[in-house]
Amino acid sequence: MDVTLTVLGSSGGYSGAGKACSSYLLKNGEQSLVLDLGPGALSNLLKYLEPDGVGAVALSHMHFDHYADLYSLLTARRFWHCELPPLRVIAPSDMFDKLACLISRENRQKLKDLMEIMEWGDDVAVPGFRIRALRAKHPGESWMLRVSAGDRILCYSGDTEPCENLIDLAKGADLLICDSTFTSDRERKLEGHMLSSQAAQAAEEAGARRLLLTHIWPTLRESVAIEDAQAVYSSHVDVAREHMKIRLQ
Ligand SMILES: [Zn+2]
Repeated sequence: MDVTLTVLGSSGGYSGAGKACSSYLLKNGEQSLVLDLGPGALSNLLKYLEPDGVGAVALSHMHFDHYADLYSLLTARRFWHCELPPLRVIAPSDMFDKLACLISRENRQKLKDLMEIMEWGDDVAVPGFRIRALRAKHPGESWMLRVSAGDRILCYSGDTEPCENLIDLAKGADLLICDSTFTSDRERKLEGHMLSSQAAQAAEEAGARRLLLTHIWPTLRESVAIEDAQAVYSSHVDVAREHMKIRLQ
């Protein structure tokens, strides 16, 4: 079994220089799942998959830095050279209302028809993956995900503050992709996010085998995030960078 994660976007809050916002491509053999699709991420995704090759998109929450390129992917699919089936999108219950805000009234149904929308709640199964979702501690309807691909487990925090649900979902995971918006360089409190040291504490507590720090604010230094994390986490830690590939093993 070959389960691989590719980072498509890692920037926190807004696109950094040469960096897209949150997005991760998970592949289990030929099956694919995209976790979040922030601004700039589609450009990176298209290096790996054509628009008709995306199996499903899972959105953690409806803040623009986590979903804005869904518009672009739907546009690419709508005008593809042949008709495509609706794209499976697993999302918070307010997803379509948020998405429709930018679309003229007469085109909203067309937009809806491009998707097969599934809401978070019970466990979700899509080809190649099973996903368990629990609520994050972040403004709005925000979810954290535990994705199983065969016997490999990945946990994605989306945006969150430290919370028990995160420890639950990350328990024994092969990889935890965790909100690390701020570092000890700038411990400014921003509601609903984590410091790199808190991400590391969560990984340590959950016994996650590997930690990927992400959503780092673009003006902060990645080296500080790594140092902060290594002080409290005894296993392997990296900072997410575009096109980084991690094989889950
Ligand atoms: Zn957010």
